[in-house]
Formats: sequence, C-alpha cells, structure tokens
Amino acid sequence: MNLIETEAVVLHASDYGESDRIVTFFTLASGLVRALAKGARRSRERFVHAFEPNSVVRLSFRQRRGLAWVESCRLVEGNLGLRSDPSRWAYAGLLVETTLRLHPENLPNTQFYALLCGALARLGTERDPVNVAALFLVRGIHLVGGLPSLESCGQCGRKLGESSTWTLSLGAGRFACQAHGLNHAGAITLDKGSAILLHAMLQGPVEKIWRFRLRKGMASEIVRAAAAWVEEQSGQRLKSRRALNCVMDPRWAEECNP
Ligand SMILES: [Zn+2]
Repeated sequence: MNLIETEAVVLHASDYGESDRIVTFFTLASGLVRALAKGARRSRERFVHAFEPNSVVRLSFRQRRGLAWVESCRLVEGNLGLRSDPSRWAYAGLLVETTLRLHPENLPNTQFYALLCGALARLGTERDPVNVAALFLVRGIHLVGGLPSLESCGQCGRKLGESSTWTLSLGAGRFACQAHGLNHAGAITLDKGSAILLHAMLQGPVEKIWRFRLRKGMASEIVRAAAAWVEEQSGQRLKSRRALNCVMDPRWAEECNP
C-alpha cells in the first residue's frame, strides 16, 4: 500500500468506536477520500486540531479497499474567519456538503481542489460571502458535469447577447433564451449581464473566478436553486439547510433566534 502525501481539505469527521475517527478529506492527489484515523480520539497530541471541518491540512495516508488509513495529519490553515460568523459557516457547510454529495470518491480533480480551497479561504474573509458561494456552486457543478452549456439557447441556438433574459434549470439540464425559457420552480432567471458573466466565469482558470461579482439577488437565487438541486440529486435534505434558510430567508428568522 503506497503512502500518499498531499494537501487536503477536511470535509467531515465523526467518532468511530472507542478511540478512532472517520474523516472525509478532499485531497489534492486523490480527490474525495474517506479515511480511518486510528486512535484519534485517545491521542490528541498525534493529531492536534487536525480534523476540524473546513481547514486545510498536510495529510499522509495509505490507500486501501474501503477506508484509507491516516498516517499523519497536520493543520496548515484553519480558516478561522469562518467560525466567527454563522452566515459564513452556513455557506461553508453548503459547499462542503455539495462536494460530499456530488464528487465521486478517489477520483483526482485538481481544479475542484483549487476551487474548494479558494472558496473556503474567501468565504472567511470577503465582504460578500453569498457571491463566493454562488461562484463556487456554478463552477463546481460544471466541474462534475452537472451544468448544461451556457454558450447559447439549447432550443434555438440563440447567442447570449441576443436575449434579454435567460433561464437555467439544473433539474432539467437546460439553458434557454427568453422565448424558450422554462417556467417551473427551481429554474434560475438570469438577466443578460449575469448570463454573460457566468459563461465567462466558466472559461478561465479556477483561481481567477473570484473577481467576478454577481448582483446580490442573483447570487442568492443561484445558491437557493443549487442547494435544492443538490438535495434532489442526492435524495436527501442538506444538513446545512436550516442554517442556510436562517441566513438567506427572512421568513425563517423567527425560528433561528433562540
Ligand atoms: Zn431559444
């Protein structure tokens, strides 16, 4: 069994048995990896703050059938800015769950790794976390093959500049001009500028997408629709759903205040 040394993002950790933990990482070398950290609950010194969700670590592990085996894990970046703000934490939860549910295990994807790392770092620091979340979701869904082409209308071939509004339906896998737009729940209505921006955002290197700025309402609509789509795809409600509703929808505010 080869020892693999790589950088990784901690997505999820849970206790296992008396003394172990099962940790899911998104690694630079091997993509999504589920691994057993033997003795992690007993020996805190061996893995100091190493399994905090949303942090970046230096990991070495052995690949096996089923669960991988953590040899060592050292914290590199804790992304502490996320922890002090419930809305940033909620968006980070959505990004992590989207990754867990959409990305296959043990399939390297360096672009997705760069996207996830960049998004978590910026979610903790940027003024507009919903913009960061929306950019991550569109590019991330594109990277796992879940986004229809935003080049032109899927029905008539009309180009982006030739229609004043567009609709994007993740569920139907369709992108359509004003004349062929879908009018069902979950379809995102985009003005021409936003459609052109999203299309441009998909072209360049992943590291460069964070300069794109969506209109605030637009970013929220994308996040809502993408979250619903992830739930539909996985057949399960998102664990971050309640926190997200609190952050995004004033109708939920009462339930959110203790
Ligand atoms: Zn059309």
